[in-house]
Parts: sequence; C-alpha cells; structure tokens
Amino acid sequence: MKRFALAGNPNCGKTTLFNNLTGSTAHVGNWPGVTVEKKDGVYKKLKEHVAIIDLPGIYSLSPYTSEEVISRNYILDEKPDCVINIVDATNLERNLYLTTQLLEIDVPVVVAVNMMDVLDKNGDTLDVDELSKKLGVPVVKVSALKENNLDDLMKVAYEASLNERKGHTILDDKDLLHLIGDLSIAFKGKKVDNPLFHAIKLAEGDEIEVKDHKDLMEMVSEFKKTIKNDIFGDDIEAIIADKRYNYIADNFSSVITRKEVVDEKEVKSTKSDRIDKVLTHKVWGLLIFAVILFFVFHLTFAEDLFFLHAFGVEFTPCFEGSIYEGLFWSDGGIASPGVMLFNFFDMSFGAIIEAVGGAMEGNVPVWFQGFICDGVLAGLFAILGFLPQILFLFLFFSIMEDTGYMARVAFILDRIFRKFGLSGRAFIPMIMGFGCSVPAMINTRTLADEKEKTATIRVIPFFSCGAKLPILVAIAGGIVEYFGFGNADVITYSMYVVGIIAAITCLILMRKTTMRGDVAPFIMELPAYHWPQFKSLMIHLWDKAKHFVKKAFTIILASTVVIWFLSNFGWNWAYLGTFEGSILEGLGSLIQPIFTPLGFGSQLSAFGFVFAVAAITGLIAKENVIATFIALGAIIMASSPEIVEAIEADEDGIEASIAMISATGITWQGCISFIAFNMLTIPCFAACATARAELPKGQFKWTILFWLVASYVGSAFIYCFLSMFSKETLAWAIPVTAGLIVLAVAAGFGIHFYNKRQDAKKLGA
Ligand code: GDP
Ligand code: MG
Repeated sequence: MKRFALAGNPNCGKTTLFNNLTGSTAHVGNWPGVTVEKKDGVYKKLKEHVAIIDLPGIYSLSPYTSEEVISRNYILDEKPDCVINIVDATNLERNLYLTTQLLEIDVPVVVAVNMMDVLDKNGDTLDVDELSKKLGVPVVKVSALKENNLDDLMKVAYEASLNERKGHTILDDKDLLHLIGDLSIAFKGKKVDNPLFHAIKLAEGDEIEVKDHKDLMEMVSEFKKTIKNDIFGDDIEAIIADKRYNYIADNFSSVITRKEVVDEKEVKSTKSDRIDKVLTHKVWGLLIFAVILFFVFHLTFAEDLFFLHAFGVEFTPCFEGSIYEGLFWSDGGIASPGVMLFNFFDMSFGAIIEAVGGAMEGNVPVWFQGFICDGVLAGLFAILGFLPQILFLFLFFSIMEDTGYMARVAFILDRIFRKFGLSGRAFIPMIMGFGCSVPAMINTRTLADEKEKTATIRVIPFFSCGAKLPILVAIAGGIVEYFGFGNADVITYSMYVVGIIAAITCLILMRKTTMRGDVAPFIMELPAYHWPQFKSLMIHLWDKAKHFVKKAFTIILASTVVIWFLSNFGWNWAYLGTFEGSILEGLGSLIQPIFTPLGFGSQLSAFGFVFAVAAITGLIAKENVIATFIALGAIIMASSPEIVEAIEADEDGIEASIAMISATGITWQGCISFIAFNMLTIPCFAACATARAELPKGQFKWTILFWLVASYVGSAFIYCFLSMFSKETLAWAIPVTAGLIVLAVAAGFGIHFYNKRQDAKKLGA
C-alpha cells in the first residue's frame, strides 16, 4: 500500500485533514503540540487504498524537539511515497520555511495550501500556478475544515507518487552551493540516501549529522575559515536560515493578493488583540480564568442554579407524584443543566432496577436477585449515571480549547510559573489531564528536558480526570445532604483547586530538589480565535462517551461483580447476604488501620472498612470507588432498617454515600480527606502503564512511591487542618487558609530572593 505523510507547522490543520481523509476521530486542538505521536489511517477513494500518516507539527527539520525528530526520521527512514506539506494560507511565509527544507529531500512533495476558506472570506486571492512554478512541485488549494478540494489533493498526490523526485534547494549563494555540492558528492560516495539534505544539514552543524559523519566535518571547518559575514560570523546555520527567509520574502510575498481594505484588516487584528489584552492580562487574565472555571462547574453540578434559592426565590416541583418529581427542582432551587441530566438518568435507572427487582421477587433465589439488582445493575448504572455530567464538563473544556482560549491560559500560566522553574509547555499536558491522564502523559513528549518531563508526569493525576468526578460528586452531595451544610458544586470546585495547588506545590518542590533543570523557552504562538466547530466538539464528546461506556461494561462491571461476591460470601464460600463475616470485611479490616491518620480508618464504627476497600478498588479504575459504595451501600441499606428510613426520603442518587456516612459515622472532614486521597493517590491501571512507558528508565518505582506519599501526607494534612474547624466555625477556614497561603508564598519568595542574592554575591566574589 502506498503511504502519504502529512507534514506541516503546528496548528496548520493536519489532523483535521487527516480525520476528513481517513474518517477517523483523532484529537484536533486549537493549540500547537496536540499531535505528538504519528497516527495512521487509510484513504479509500483512489484506484488503490493509500495509508495516510499524520506527523507531529514542526517548524523545521532540525533536531531540537522530539516532534522534529519523529517527523524527520519518518520522512528520511521510512521513505513515504509522497509528502503532503500542509501550509496555512493565512500565514504563508512562515509556513514555507519548512517547505524549503522538505524540498531538499528526494521524495515527491505536494503542497496543500490550507485554510483557503479564511482567505476567501477575507477576499484575498492566491496565485497557485505562480507558487507551484516557484517551488517546483504541485500546489493544491484546500480547506480541511470545509472539506473543499480534498479529493483533488489526493489525486495530485497520487500522480506525484508515481514518479521519483530529486531534491533541490532554493539556496543560491555561490560559495555555499559549492560546499553543499562537495558534501553531496561525498555523501553519494558513502552511499547515503538524500545526499543534498544531509549535505545542507551537515553544513548547518546539525547535531545528528555531525555525530554520524565526523569524517566530513573537516570540509565544513575549512569552509568556515573563508566566510566573511558581518552579522552571523561563521555560523552557517544562521546564514542558511537567513537566506531561506530572504528567499521566501523576495519570491513569495507576491503570490497572495490582499484585498485592498487595509484598515478593515487592522480593525480585525486589533479586535483580537484587544481581546487578548484582557484575557492574557497579568491580573484580569487569571481572574477571568478562575471565574470561567467556576461557572463551568456551577452549570454542571449546581443544585441551586445561580444561587437563586439561596437568595430567596422559591420554586415548587412539577410532575408531582411521578418518579420525575425532582427532575428540575431540588429543595426549592432550580437544578443546573448538568444536574437535570444527571437526575433524569438516575431516576430512569432507579425505575428500571425497581421493575427488574419486582419481576424477580419470589421467582428467583434471593441471592440471585441481590446479585442482579444490587450488584450488576446498581454498579453499572451508578457509573453510567455520571456520563451526562462528565460529557457536560468535557464539552466546556472542548469549547475553551477549540476557541483558542486554552492556549491563552497556558500563556498566562507560563508567565507566572516560569519563575519557579516550569515552562508553559508543561501546562498543556496538565490541562489535558482534566480529561484523562493517559493522553496527557503521552503529550509530555513535547517537553525537551527529561526532569521537567518526569516531574510533569508525576503531577498529571492531580488534575482530576473524568473518572474521578463520580467520587467528587457523590461524596460532596453526601456531605451536603447528610451534614446539611455547604454547596455540592463549591465543594467539587474546591477539590479541583486542591488538586491544582497540590500539583504546583509538588512541582516546585521537585524542581528545586530532585528534579532540577533548565526551563526550555516557551515558544508557542497564540492560535487565532475562532468559533468552536460543532463537528469537532461532537468528535471529542463521542470519543469520551465511547471510552467511558466501554469501561463501564468491561472493567468496572467485572470489578463490581467481584466486589459483590467478596462482600456477600464468607471465607467458607457460603452465601451470607450481609457483610458480617464476609471476605471483604476480613480483608478491609486488615488494611483499615492504615487510614486512621486520614480520618477514614479505625475511628469509623460498623462498616468502616468500606472506605479502605473503596480506596483499594479505585486503583483498578477510579470509577470503582463509587461502584463499590453503591454495591456495599445497597447491602448496608438492606441490613440496617434505621438507615433505610433516614435516606428513603431522598431521591437524588447520592444515597449510597449517605448510607456510608451514616453507617460508619465518618466526619465531614474525613469525607473530604477521602476525596483528596483518591485524587492524589496512584492513578488507575491505564495511567500507570502509560507513566511506566513514558518515564525515563528507573523512575517508575519512585513515581509510585511519590504518589503514595503525596496522597497520604496530603490527605492527612487536609484532615488535620479541617479538624480544627467545626461546621459552625468553618467560615473561618477561608481567611485562615488564605493567611497561611500568603505566609507560605511570602516565605517562598523570601527564600528565592535570598538564594539569588547569595548567588550574586558568589559571582561577584
Ligand atoms: P494540526 O495541529 O496541524 O494537527 O491542526 P488541527 O487539525 O488540530 O487544526 C488546528 C485548528 O485549525 C483547529 O481549530 C481546526 O478547526 C482549524 N482548521 C483546520 N483546518 C482548517 C481550515 O481549512 N479552515 C479553517 N478556518 N480552520 C481550520
Ligand atoms: Mg494535529
């Protein structure tokens, strides 16, 4: 099968093109650095099927970043049948820099000028024939997004792939060409493929070439002695780069004719600049980000939308008497859209379980009914019930990403955290961690520094992923219902913030101690703002939903069944129908004391081991924590009638955690510590496997230890800190916490500047 590789600058639309050609659903993001791995798919509309390879985005073929190395090696070593070089029409001159280098390789090249829809809209025109003549390769105008001309592009690429192509260079300096010519001949003598490309790279002093062809370096050093260049001295790399840019400016500025409305364009650019001035402002930028995040969480989780009820507005429920009575309203407030969807799922699932239970009653053995209703169905529905809220949250994140806002966030954060030895590049994988740790850890390949990479992988799980959401929602809901204070969405939001603070603290600590290293400069251009694309949003959501449902029906279902058996059967393999004497009780009680300092260990009364067990089952998949609660909650409810009475009045799917709280007598401080423990501890199997693969050799075991220590110490700290407050004095927690944070930051700065002064003194001496 023929192979066509897609190469181009970051954010030029490669993945969009790839998805539309191959019908796949790879992640498209409006920020650079999303595609780190190469992906392949198949295009089927030609005479024969061709494989399409989406390479990571690069600005040049020099070996400075891992993306560049991956793309370069693929083209040189795997020799695709054609390289489709995608260039962004709205940024033509910068994009052609890479093109001039691709042309030097002996491979058929077709240039696809993308984003033509934007050009058309602006009324600008592009002279394709002129461009094609100057580059010496075919050029096709496309719009990957609007799927314009894609089949033509593939036809042209197919034609091109039928013939060989010899590389040529646009460099025209006589002396330089002389050197390159001599080097090419030497490479040909050594039977190296792509002699022209290697010759130019060697002349540039490219790290990889110099290592592989030390014998030819003498020719380069001889040549260096003859160079007379006032600006760049004998730096051939700089001279060549300069020549490329000059060539592009001289030859290609005329291929695009801008419509003569100069001032309209100015207005436009200042509009986006004006937006950026606010969104990336030192102070306002951060505040706006915090406010946006708050609203995202509020719309997803709030039981009392916009705090209307708290402000005194009273709503009365509708659907009185039906199972959907509490769908829109809860306790006199309107539910947020996320909660409404959640309620809808929850109520429908509840009705199904009741119906199934009713049909089984008396017709099947009691243990079987319990197994199906309390084990399988309850566990499954418990997880599926969270799907709407997870998708809702994900939708907001996708919108922020697609509009280009997230790239601004990375930019704002870079400015601050650079001071602490972190680069803004590291924030992209971290923000991805809110979705799922696995792709986020893979994305750390964009980090050049091994130590920064290790440190980043370690804190990625602290950015609470979709699977941890059920833990947050159910327990936060449980706290509010049972202890009667607080706001579920405020608690959830705070826990996300706790995760972020933990990540930052650990990163700073690591970068100042075991993981010291330089911060690579943060080069990321801010992508253009654009309206989110319905199609790409749907692709994101569909991906997420598919993954989640699959997980619910496989790994989580299996764990639920195992937990059910362990909690209903004794060591003698006899069905008990209660916890007393069950295998799980035995195992749980054994590990329970470990968690005493965290507030959910030995201090808990009956069923106290459940928290310990849930924390352990969570290691397989985080959804298991709540699935365990539900499976065990059902049994607890059946075995202690007082609890059943206490919670029967409620109808909002948080019963299981309420059952747990009331049965075990855990404090609200213990509950919060339990959430924190699950957020910070060893992530799920899949994330561990990814971390193992991505971390440098020998770091995995330390990373596991790091997660264990961080979660244990972190939760113990949170538990102790919160225990200073009671429900009544909780209002003090905020000023006290703020005070402590201010003190800590002041101390940090103090030490930082003290060290700096010491260093300066040393230098002076
Ligand atoms: P990659 O980094 O090169 O893989 O680029 P992506 O495919 O992730 O696209 C980057 C951004 O450009 C996304 O927000 C796309 O929706 C947008 N985009 C891609 N192709 C086009 C196009 O032809 N026209 C317009 N207007 N936007 C596009
Ligand atoms: Mg991409």
